[in-house]
Amino acid sequence: MDELLLTNARVLDGLGGAIDRATVRLAGGRVAEVSPEASAAPGPGLGTIDLSGKTLMPALVDAHVHLSSYEALPPLLRGEEPRADAVHYFELANSARNLVRMGILTVRDVGSMDDHALHLRQAIRLDLGPGPRILTCARIISATSPGCRIFTTMYRPADGADEVRKATREQLAMGADFVKIMATGARSVVLKDPEPAQLAREEVRTVVEEAHRLGKRVAAHAEGSGGTRISVEEGVDTIEHGLSLHRTPELLDLMAERGQTLVPTLSTFHDVSEDHAEKYPCTRVEQAKRQREEAYKTLTAAREAGVRIAMGFDSYPLGENARELMRMVAGGLTPMQGIIAATSGAAAALGLENVGKIQAAAVADLLVVDGDPLADPCVLQDPNSINLVLQAGSTVSAV
Ligand SMILES: [Zn+2]
Repeated sequence: MDELLLTNARVLDGLGGAIDRATVRLAGGRVAEVSPEASAAPGPGLGTIDLSGKTLMPALVDAHVHLSSYEALPPLLRGEEPRADAVHYFELANSARNLVRMGILTVRDVGSMDDHALHLRQAIRLDLGPGPRILTCARIISATSPGCRIFTTMYRPADGADEVRKATREQLAMGADFVKIMATGARSVVLKDPEPAQLAREEVRTVVEEAHRLGKRVAAHAEGSGGTRISVEEGVDTIEHGLSLHRTPELLDLMAERGQTLVPTLSTFHDVSEDHAEKYPCTRVEQAKRQREEAYKTLTAAREAGVRIAMGFDSYPLGENARELMRMVAGGLTPMQGIIAATSGAAAALGLENVGKIQAAAVADLLVVDGDPLADPCVLQDPNSINLVLQAGSTVSAV
């Protein structure tokens, strides 16, 4: 029943294993079997795809995206027709299609305007168009701060233990898959210094306690050491950005010991310091240059400490997420370590045990690329190299 045989593939299993020539059998939307040899003749009626010369690997998992932050479209010029709010829904659908087309089949949305990630997740579940598996935090829980005036509906302001507990419950009531907090301020906000902790220890502890009791994970936006320390020590599951961690090796050791994940988001520092510098005030650009250096130092320090690393693009346009993988490799990860971070590593950070790997029982979210991503990871961001995308074992028609 809906079985498919993928033969003669070079297989990267997402866990660090590479097989030169293998046959992978899919059944019921999952991987049924991986055999390290060329297959015998397939049985009658069994679909077969010969992948000679190609690489089969798990579809990519991105642990840090913003599905709607209104940055993908070019800015409105004076005199241009005002854009209706509804246009943003088409923009969302377009992003979802681009992600699928590039083999990014799981994304964790860590903050969108106007609950757009929740709406897009529902539309995809209703099969209204192609799209990846979406995990969303609904709104980000933030202390009352200048960032609330800028990020408006992306945030849920909350102060004090009782209020953050209620805010946590509100997000879960909305259908959040996990909870996101602003442990420090955001680097782009002029009125903010991202160095000190922004939430009190008691507030972070309360969110973690509340979410974990209900079986949900917590992600913390953490730039400076103060908020990063509180987040790690209070048991936050994923540290977003975490650029200051190279200054506190004891926290990296603690993360490795407890299985907490770093999502380095190198691309966002490139955005503010160079790629999109014209959109930011000079002080933010200069700060981002310093932060970019710190982020790269933390990447290698985390690798040395044995901390799990997950790919998180935190940039745009969506679909070009593998650029973050390239940057992690340029920053010192081996291509295999980069691929693990973009597949099983990110999936583990999200709590998805059957995603991001090619082994029996794993969800058959798969990517076929021309060439060898270990020799040249660039192939993962070249649309011409993406040969085939399988979502739960079925060929994606959006390609
Ligand atoms: Zn972000």
